[in-house]
Amino acid sequence: MKITVDRSKCRGHSNCLSLAPNVFDIDEQFKAVVTDPEGDSDEAVLKAAKLCPTLAITLEDEETGKRIFP
Ligand code: SF4
Repeated sequence: MKITVDRSKCRGHSNCLSLAPNVFDIDEQFKAVVTDPEGDSDEAVLKAAKLCPTLAITLEDEETGKRIFP
């Protein structure tokens, strides 16, 4: 799964980090970054994307390029 964080939308709430701690981290600018796209289950990443208050996380199927979320 391709995971993209829109840094202009990210507010650094860390919801994503608490749901998928091995995928996301917060950098020194308090923006989420993807450290390992396969660090947690796809379910955890989808949950993180859904619970991001600003919908900053975009998920796509790596092979087909099809949008998974939002
Ligand atoms: S939950 Fe959304 S706004 Fe919060 S740190 Fe993660 S990507 Fe950024």
